[in-house]
Amino acid sequence: MSRPKQSDTDSRPTHTIEDYLMTMHVMERDSGKIVAARLAEMMGVTPATVTMTLRRMQRDEWISGHRRREIHLTELGREAARSVTRRHMLTEWLLVKIFKFPIFETHDEAHRIEHAISPKLEERMYEILGKPELCPHGNPLPGNEALTKDWVSLVDIPVGAEVIIRRVHEFAEDNQELLAFLGEKKIAPEKKALIKENLPFNQTLTIEIGDGIVTLGFAAAKHIFVEIIKS
Ligand SMILES: [Zn+2]
Ligand SMILES: [Zn+2]
Repeated sequence: MSRPKQSDTDSRPTHTIEDYLMTMHVMERDSGKIVAARLAEMMGVTPATVTMTLRRMQRDEWISGHRRREIHLTELGREAARSVTRRHMLTEWLLVKIFKFPIFETHDEAHRIEHAISPKLEERMYEILGKPELCPHGNPLPGNEALTKDWVSLVDIPVGAEVIIRRVHEFAEDNQELLAFLGEKKIAPEKKALIKENLPFNQTLTIEIGDGIVTLGFAAAKHIFVEIIKS
């Protein structure tokens, strides 16, 4: 059997660096750039810690020419970022499909497991889990970004529209209280909802979902992306 082309687990970055790389992948995917200032907030560490980690990442050639504001992944860094993102998402599916975890309780477990998965196991997981294009939260596995481009943030949906929830963005995943709330209210991909109220001056919107009425602040709602079925 030929060797898998992905780097071996031994030549991978550390867990911490992999987690930075995954966040960088998401930032670059969404906005085309990686802003150092936002990393501290996303990673839940101080700016000084971020600066130190970025210096290490530059030394090890995961990123290049790190100037103050904007960060660029090297070829090597980008491949490593895509690799850990894939492993994270496949692990989420493993937890949901095989181990029956509720979809909003996969985050911590996935972070424990994802770093240990070899390229060979990743390949097997991908096959057995049915070659998924999206994670259980509707975020694209690297290479499948086009699938999500027509979904609109819930914040921008007018009153009266019927929608199908398609995606809860990765950046919601670090907020445990928000995830618990979404889980409790059963706000998840594939669920239908009706927009009852959208109040920009109040930064809230209200949706009917299942048998319930739920009010969300824009700060939470901006992470939820939907497909309009009737406007
Ligand atoms: Zn992790
Ligand atoms: Zn996910």
